Amino acid sequence: MPEMVGRETTDFEVTDPGAEFAAAEPAAGPGAPGPDRGRPHLRIATDKPVVDLAAAQRAAADFLTALGVDLRGEGLDETPARMARAYAELFDAQPFRMTTFPNDEGYDELVLARAIPFRTVCEHHLLPFSGVAHVGYLPGERILGLSKLARLVEHFAARPQTQERLTKQVADTLAELLQPQGAGVVLEAEHTCMTLRGVRALGATTVTSALVGLLRTDARSRAEFFALAGAPS
Ligand SMILES: [Zn+2]
Repeated sequence: MPEMVGRETTDFEVTDPGAEFAAAEPAAGPGAPGPDRGRPHLRIATDKPVVDLAAAQRAAADFLTALGVDLRGEGLDETPARMARAYAELFDAQPFRMTTFPNDEGYDELVLARAIPFRTVCEHHLLPFSGVAHVGYLPGERILGLSKLARLVEHFAARPQTQERLTKQVADTLAELLQPQGAGVVLEAEHTCMTLRGVRALGATTVTSALVGLLRTDARSRAEFFALAGAPS
């Protein structure tokens, strides 16, 4: 196991993961990285928007009333407030530190976290879509705590999304922050805007993938990634 204490080196900050992220300069001054290979804390953070729950609650009440929903009565009178809190929770992206470790063992095979459950909301209808993510990378000089792959998915899922963008954001961020030889993400999801309304294609899943580096360019690595992910290539 790589050493897991101390030696903080670099901070990266994602200011708006919905757009691009800015890789901060390595920290200077006291506590700055020494010449040894330390453990960068890649801090992924979002500029938190100001959430006005009271305004959201009023708007939810107006919205439901406009749709002919009678909010008088015990079951529904608190619904606008619950709706506001529920959506606020869905959009609450938690910052986290993406700690990496030197790849001292020179591990150069695929690292893959399979079937990470995720849920988000489609930006077109504001209806939930959910499923599983398979996130992998081919290590370069550094490796990553495995739970961070799931945290990365969770982080980018906490906003109105398209499945295509979510897939690409996870792959691109992983590639940018970890600098692996390759990175790959497959998302399999069921969209309630498609299964519960519209065409009502119940049980239909949508698969998207994003590949970076060797997982994109090398046929063998690519095939191995899709085989291990258990996803259609
Ligand atoms: Zn939709």
